[in-house]
Amino acid sequence: MLIPKIKLVSQPDSEDAKEVLGYHWNDVAGTRHHLGGKPDGMSEDEYPVCDDCKKPMTFYAQIDSIGEKLDLADCMVIHNFVCFDCFNVKAILSQTQV
Ligand SMILES: [Zn+2]
Repeated sequence: MLIPKIKLVSQPDSEDAKEVLGYHWNDVAGTRHHLGGKPDGMSEDEYPVCDDCKKPMTFYAQIDSIGEKLDLADCMVIHNFVCFDCFNVKAILSQTQV
């Protein structure tokens, strides 16, 4: 199943949140959050398989590193997958080329 891509935009609602959001040296990292679409830097044959039904899982969301103060191993993103039959979920920390 392919979920249409829905971009997510960070809206920090406190000074503390504004302080940890984004990178001074990179305008792209920290903004690559989205629901659906395709995961950056990962092909469909790399998608995880559901532990119960053994079918490939659906890509559900990409969550980017928050910023340089809360960086995930040099601007990595978290890819989230779900099985819509069993409702199992998996998350994979991934490096992208973007
Ligand atoms: Zn399943």
